[in-house]
Amino acid sequence: MNAHDSEKMMGLLREEGYDPVGDPGEADLIVFNTCSIREKAEQKFYSQLGCTRRLKERNPLLKIAVAGCIAQQEGVRIREKAPHVDYIIGPQNIGRVGEAVARSEGGVLTEDNPGIVSADLPAERRNHVKAWVNIMYGCNNFCSYCVVPYTRGRERSRPVEKVLAEIRGLAGSGYREVTLLGQNVNSYRGEVSFPGLLRLVNDVEGLERIRFVTSHPKDLGEDLVAAMRDLEKVCEHIHLPLQSGSDRILRLMNRGYTYAEYRTKVERLRRAVPGIAITTDIIAGFPGETEADHRATVSALGEIGFDGIFAFKFSPRPMTRASEMEGQLPEGIKSERLSEILRLQDDITEKKNRALEGSVQEVLLEGPSGSDPGTATGRTRTNKIVNIPLSGDIVPGMLLQVKITKGHRHSLEGTVIVTDHR
Ligand code: SAH
Ligand code: SF4
Repeated sequence: MNAHDSEKMMGLLREEGYDPVGDPGEADLIVFNTCSIREKAEQKFYSQLGCTRRLKERNPLLKIAVAGCIAQQEGVRIREKAPHVDYIIGPQNIGRVGEAVARSEGGVLTEDNPGIVSADLPAERRNHVKAWVNIMYGCNNFCSYCVVPYTRGRERSRPVEKVLAEIRGLAGSGYREVTLLGQNVNSYRGEVSFPGLLRLVNDVEGLERIRFVTSHPKDLGEDLVAAMRDLEKVCEHIHLPLQSGSDRILRLMNRGYTYAEYRTKVERLRRAVPGIAITTDIIAGFPGETEADHRATVSALGEIGFDGIFAFKFSPRPMTRASEMEGQLPEGIKSERLSEILRLQDDITEKKNRALEGSVQEVLLEGPSGSDPGTATGRTRTNKIVNIPLSGDIVPGMLLQVKITKGHRHSLEGTVIVTDHR
């Protein structure tokens, strides 16, 4: 969500006549698009922001903008730590970045913005094969640990026609894959429900693949399972954050489901969509988490066998209920639990990837690999990264049939057996 907000600000600033520069020392304007989901992201931002003070001393015309969730959370307080900041722009107001930077006296834009759903902002996308598309903004769930409802505001769905027009435009200009974005996509309430929207997007000509993030387990119903089963462009992957395997902790988190309910939904998905990849998010060391609660999470990971996880140490966030709860755990315990979770999952992911050796997968080619110049990279429909030897007759955007020759912990290797020129 944050990265796509940056693409929009890039597009908007381009319209104002700005071009990107390679070195911050050459810039007239530096925009930080910040995240405050965990404290670590905030610390990184403040240390980088500190470095811009010297740049501004050297170039008094330089303007500094802070956008995103820290801007919303802290507002003008950012200037107490960093008086050299000119513009403070919350995530609901990034559409006004052009207007803000046109004012030389600086400004603070952190108002609630219901109009966000009708704005069509010109995103400047870096990737030309796959694109992010917002279908909703904000969140009403108030999970007790999470700052998002405070920084991104109330849940608001984009009208169906706006979403479809953007996706038709993307497909028409050569994009093959879209990822529909929302904090909780299955509570989408445009003129249709989320599964209804998937059906309409599935009909967009030229598009090959549809993905979506993030789904909330409490709102995942039979209709979404059926849409995933029936719609050929919807990829066989779902990111479904579990957070904890302990019902007591899930209740404290205000997640609205039990572990048993979560498992039942996973089973339904696996029955309806053979080969579906399921990934999740886990928080280690939530306040009051006992060793037994932690063991419940470890056992859930073993039982479900996720294709991949993102796991984080609990981080107390301003305004959230969990930051005030009793039983805050020491860093040491959180780190130990996180390491155990990550070690276990590494083994599971590696086994799953090894099991794919010898199979043939459809890979959407994205481009040369960032780390190995002799290699091209793409993803399976199940969202696994596949590296293949680079050759002259394959170009980004192609759908390839690839035989998997090796499964690693974080990627697969393969050789192309069919090149599809569709
Ligand atoms: N709306 C999505 C994404 C939320 S943020 C969802 O509900 O899944 C992505 C992940 O960050 C969350 O799933 C959660 O695992 C993690 N997260 C959020 N707040 C956190 C906190 N205070 N400490 C640690 N992890 C957190
Ligand atoms: Fe945060 Fe929960 Fe909303 Fe996700 S669903 S953004 S974790 S409050």
